Amino acid sequence: MSLKRLMMRQRRGLGPSLATFLRDCWRSWSMMLWFGALSMGLSSGTRASRTKEVDAFTSRLLDIHSKILETNKTEDIRLGLHRSDYMLDAEANLLFQIELNTISSSFPGLSCLVSELHRNLINHYGKDLELDSRRVPGNTAVSRYAEALAKAWNEYNNSSAVVMVVVQTEEHNMYDQHWLCTLLREIHGVASVRKTLAEIDAEGQVLPDGNLLVGGQTVAVVYFRAGYSPNDYPSQSEWRARLLMEQSNAIKCPSISYHLVGTKKIQQELAKPNVLERFLENEDDIAKLRKCFAGLWNLENADAVKSAMERPEFFVLKPQREGGGNNIYGDNIRETLIRLQQDGSEQAAAYILMQRIFPKASLAYLVRKGICRQDHAISELGIYGAYLRNKDKAIMNDQCGYLMRTKVSSSNEGGVAAGFAVLDSIYLT
Ligand code: ADP
Ligand code: MG
Repeated sequence: MSLKRLMMRQRRGLGPSLATFLRDCWRSWSMMLWFGALSMGLSSGTRASRTKEVDAFTSRLLDIHSKILETNKTEDIRLGLHRSDYMLDAEANLLFQIELNTISSSFPGLSCLVSELHRNLINHYGKDLELDSRRVPGNTAVSRYAEALAKAWNEYNNSSAVVMVVVQTEEHNMYDQHWLCTLLREIHGVASVRKTLAEIDAEGQVLPDGNLLVGGQTVAVVYFRAGYSPNDYPSQSEWRARLLMEQSNAIKCPSISYHLVGTKKIQQELAKPNVLERFLENEDDIAKLRKCFAGLWNLENADAVKSAMERPEFFVLKPQREGGGNNIYGDNIRETLIRLQQDGSEQAAAYILMQRIFPKASLAYLVRKGICRQDHAISELGIYGAYLRNKDKAIMNDQCGYLMRTKVSSSNEGGVAAGFAVLDSIYLT
């Protein structure tokens, strides 16, 4: 692993109550996702259907979703391995949600190793640095994710079935995935296989009883670490594989509806007045969630568009994409908005505008590819969560651990794999 940070810096504002706050927040999100996928079914959302008209990639995902809806297929066992990302806004002193990932939430493995590394370094050098390793909270992301996958596998109830990890053809984050699969095997005795979408198309079939067979092995759980980006679908073969898996009775992590719930458009729709109320009853839960929402607007909102044109530095323009490197900032926002207006309004439905969050920058040491540099840096906190349900029985619904990513404050984007940030740890003060 070439990404690590050597020293901790004290982060004011991230007090010990953080864990409680985030646990509460996570529970609400999980409940909401459940109700979101179940009752909203996405197809009822008019915004979702407009997105369908203009964004070819989301449109194909929605096509698969519609096909599955038409067959009245029930999804008894549902597994979600999610990560909700936050930034601490310096002025509001509040954690605002950046996005909710419902597919391929990465780094449960490496984030735990980095926390261990930091604790270890502090144990060795903490006296000189006046740091205490007990203030780095334990990170259980990888073991809890392995537990969730094993519990799902158990619900499927076929001892010879495997967990199938869907991977990219050129996988750069394989060690994170291998670490998770190693725990799955060593702690829970569950075997896993790694397949690309093209391999699944070539080797996969759905038997009359609904079982998914890939390379002759029955698949209990399909764990997606690919399939969230148009680049993952270079031909019809990959799309066939996605549909095949969805048609089977294997547990999909995530199912197509869960995948779609994580789109930025849905995030923006949920932030509208009275929308959360459709999915949650408890007023406290609603209030806690709403407090995490930054300003989010669609491009039909003329006031928001006008403000973004005048002061683009206070906004982020986001297309319906995942995986880093797609967002639009600064003067490019103005140019893109003008272009979208000229092209006609249909295309604009695929974008959302978001209030830009400004975390407090502090001096940090960042190590990438063995080279250490000192710079002003800001951090993004991800909270992992697992949700497992079999019919009416909720089996797991909990926060699982954290991911701290730190990047130089002058960089707009934040992905580690995308090359913008480094892995980090929390230090409670
Ligand atoms: P992706 O699906 O590509 O990960 P994100 O919404 O997480 O999309 O945005 C990518 C990165 O851009 C984030 O990790 C964060 O560093 C930065 N970012 C996104 N939204 C905001 C925002 N509202 N304010 C400040 N930075 C943001
Ligand atoms: Mg992100």
